[in-house]
Amino acid sequence: MVESKLPVLSIVVPCYNEEDVLPETTKRLIEVLEDMIQDELIDFSSVILYVDDGSRDRTWELIEKFNRESRYITGLKLARNAGHQNALLSGLMKAKKNCDIAVSIDADLQDDLAAIRAMVETYHEGYEVVYGVRKSRTTDTFFKRFTAEGFYKLMQGLGANIVFNHADFRLMSKRALQNLARFDESNLFLRGIVPMIGFRSTEVYYDRAERFAGESKYPLKKMLAFAFDGITSLSVTPIRFVTVIGFVMFVLSIFAGFWALFAKIAGVTVSGWASIMVSLWLIGGVQIMCLGLIGEYIGKIYKETKRRPKYILDIDLDPLGDATYVSGQTHEHEEERVTI
Ligand code: UDP
Ligand code: MG
Repeated sequence: MVESKLPVLSIVVPCYNEEDVLPETTKRLIEVLEDMIQDELIDFSSVILYVDDGSRDRTWELIEKFNRESRYITGLKLARNAGHQNALLSGLMKAKKNCDIAVSIDADLQDDLAAIRAMVETYHEGYEVVYGVRKSRTTDTFFKRFTAEGFYKLMQGLGANIVFNHADFRLMSKRALQNLARFDESNLFLRGIVPMIGFRSTEVYYDRAERFAGESKYPLKKMLAFAFDGITSLSVTPIRFVTVIGFVMFVLSIFAGFWALFAKIAGVTVSGWASIMVSLWLIGGVQIMCLGLIGEYIGKIYKETKRRPKYILDIDLDPLGDATYVSGQTHEHEEERVTI
C-alpha cells in the first residue's frame, strides 16, 4: 500500500436508543468530515463509525440505512447493551486497525462538533491525545453539574489522574489506541486510563450544549454506579483509609488503656471495668488495622490481576526496533502487515 500522507480519521459514536438524534447527528458529522477532507486535514477514506450498544429502538436500522446512503458511514452492532464505556472501546479498537486517528463523541450533539476540527488541527501540530474539555456547564441542570463536578473533584482527591470536566470526547492517535489496547482490565474506565498512556497531549475547550433530542441515558443510578466503578478501578485509597482508621483506633486504645489504669488506681471504677475497657479498645483497633492490612494485599492482587502495561515506549532510535511504531506488541505489528 502506498502510504497516504493525510491521516485517516474515524469518528467513533456509541449509540444507545438514539433514533431521535441520529439523522441530525449524521448530517452534521458528514458536514464536518467533508469540510476537513476538502481542507486536506484528513484522508478522503475517513469514516463515522457508529456503535449500536444493543439499542431496542430503530437505531441499528438507521445506521444500516445511512451506511447504504453514504460512504462515510459505517457501523458496529454489539450483541447486547454493554454500556457506554465498552461500546466506545469496541469502536476504538476497530478504529485502531483501520485508521490513524480516532475521535470519540456522544451521539446526542451535546459536544461541539467544531471542536473535532480543532482536535485534528492539534493532531497535525504533533499531539497524540487531545482532550475535549467543557468550558462551562450552564446547560446542565444544577443537579447534574453539582454531581458531575463533585465526581471529578473526588476522583482527583483520591489520586486518580483524570482531566477536569473532560468526558469521553477526545482524539487519540493510532499509537495511543494501540497502547490503550494493552490495558487488559475488564473494568475499563477510559477517562482514568487514557492519561496513564502518556504521549504528547493537550486540551481543546468547548461549550457544552443541551441534548439535541431524547433523554440522558445516564440516570442517577447509572451515574452513581459509574462513579463507584471509576473510583474502585483507579484508586486503592479507600482501602488505605481503613488501615488509617485502624491505626488511629490502636493509638487511641493506648490512651484509653492509661486512662482506665488511672481510673482503677484512683479507685473510681467497679471491678472488671478497666480490663473490659482496655480490651475493647485494643481489640477494636487491632481488628480494623488488620482488616486494612489484608485490604492492602487484596489491593495489590487487584492491581496485579489487571496486567496493566508497565511502561509505554515513545521513541526507539533503532530503525529496526519494533517500538518505532507500536511499543511492546510485536504480534500486533504483524497483524497490521497482513491486513493492510
Ligand atoms: N450510551 C451507550 N450505552 C449506554 C448508555 C449510553 O452507548 O448504555 C451512549 C449514548 O447513546 C450517548 C453516550 O453514550 O451517545 C452518552 O450518553 P448520554 O448522552 O445519555 O449521557 P450524558 O450526556 O447524559 O452524560
Ligand atoms: Mg449526553
